[in-house]
Amino acid sequence: PTIDSILQDLAIEPVNYGATTGSIRGRIHTLGKELVSVSPITGQPIASVIQAQAHDYEAVVSRAHAAFERFRMMPAPRRGEIVREIGNALREKKQSLGALISLETGKIRAEGEGEVQEMIDIADFAVGLSRQLYGLTMHSERPSHRMYEQWHPLGIVGIITAFNFPAAVWSWNALLAVVCGDAVLFKPSSKAPLTAIAIQNIIAPVVDKYDIDGVFNLVIGNRADVGDAMLQDSRIPLISATGSTAMGKKVATTVASRLGRSLLELGGNNAIIVTEDGDQDMALRATLFGAVGTAGQRCTSTRRIIIHNSIKEAFVKKLVHAYEQIRIGDPMDPDTLMGPLIDDTAKQVMMQAIAAAKNQGGTVVYGGTSLTVEGFENGSFVTPAIVEAENHFPIVQEETFAPILYIIGYDTFDQALALHNDVPQGLSSAVFTRSIHYQEQFMSHKGSDCGIANVNIGTSGAEIGGAFGGEKETGGGRESGSDAWRIYMRRQTNTINWGNDLPLAQGIVFDI
Ligand code: NAD
Repeated sequence: PTIDSILQDLAIEPVNYGATTGSIRGRIHTLGKELVSVSPITGQPIASVIQAQAHDYEAVVSRAHAAFERFRMMPAPRRGEIVREIGNALREKKQSLGALISLETGKIRAEGEGEVQEMIDIADFAVGLSRQLYGLTMHSERPSHRMYEQWHPLGIVGIITAFNFPAAVWSWNALLAVVCGDAVLFKPSSKAPLTAIAIQNIIAPVVDKYDIDGVFNLVIGNRADVGDAMLQDSRIPLISATGSTAMGKKVATTVASRLGRSLLELGGNNAIIVTEDGDQDMALRATLFGAVGTAGQRCTSTRRIIIHNSIKEAFVKKLVHAYEQIRIGDPMDPDTLMGPLIDDTAKQVMMQAIAAAKNQGGTVVYGGTSLTVEGFENGSFVTPAIVEAENHFPIVQEETFAPILYIIGYDTFDQALALHNDVPQGLSSAVFTRSIHYQEQFMSHKGSDCGIANVNIGTSGAEIGGAFGGEKETGGGRESGSDAWRIYMRRQTNTINWGNDLPLAQGIVFDI
């Protein structure tokens, strides 16, 4: 498809408005500064967005608040029907939305479309969930009493997303929050605003059909007018924020100061342990996808290989050979495996990290250079890097959002576990081993301290059915599957006395 046909299919104009309350008539004619979305593939503009100003933000949030008060009265299974139709609308636009994600973020077509598939999958999950928002019942300690808990809609959920999953992260939050009876306010990354506009365009006919303007809201704007306003706004009881740890700290402290709730999905520093008996071919393939996929710009990207010293040299040799085969270039070409980084700043950050790794004693065994791709001379391309390093190097302790893989040797499994956990982040982790003894240790309470711990599977590419998120500086939040829905609702405990007496709890007598 051509860029024009992709944009046309998604109703993206050359200039778009950065605020909407979801329906076709809900578009707000914003007048803020223009934000140009530049493709990292060509360095050329794709289209632009007129950003929202403070009064546009205010208009959106007050409509969202009013919409929530109506929407919470809609039965949950009916809210599920809306999400089912959104899933179907996404199915129809899977190719073009996937292609736009590729154009805007530089990820390869298979990953762009994979991201839309993830949205469809979470829609299906949310539809089922709309009939399963279960609470518990308890036996009361008092005679002729009944106790139970219910889960009620919470309010407006603020969704702040990172550039690297500009569509899927919205769906993890929004589609669950909406079956829970909430309204959502989407604030995407300024590096991927068109994907957000496209999502709103795709769902607008469904919003119109169900007459729920104000339930799916979008605001694209600068930090003062929109970002900070959201964090401080007590009409937004929950802020779900995905991005760097620095951003997460700001969100956590600001939202906590008004005693709001935050759900944080922050940076990772994910490692694969390869034991002496591990299947090296499987480990190699998992490493390749984990470290090079999405040009190392996934929160779950593999950043460290912790490998038994007896097999380290041979493994690194095979890895270098595999890295040499990676086809880097235009992500729209189906043969490409690795596209560009998001922008030239990201490229500079990567080059600085490589320099720091060398300064701190590391050895670059492959790549780590800027790359010029013929026909795409202004794209932000690099060669992925393999660096022999030590876990305690300050640069290894950091998440560099680029394809740099650190190789770290170990002698005993206890040492491997200690190295594994000795970083500030705790998102995803993996071990490649045939030994049940190592597998179980890795997943035990003395094992991996991450939110995700895999055996004979790499660190990246989680399924939507599980709760997704991590510990420590990753922020502690959980999204997507399992019981992650609960954070989008408020819990209420109800006790009902159906008898004729008024016994007090704990056997207290208080009579006059
Ligand atoms: P970023 O922190 O620069 O930006 C993320 C979002 O936060 C953007 O929408 C940005 O505009 C917003 N933001 C930044 N400061 C803000 C503030 N003070 N108030 C309100 N909003 C603010 O991150 P990025 O470069 O877009 O994404 C890369 C990072 O995201 C990496 O660290 C990666 O690991 C992380 N990430 C985590 C997950 C996860 O699920 N754990 C998923 C994807 C990305």
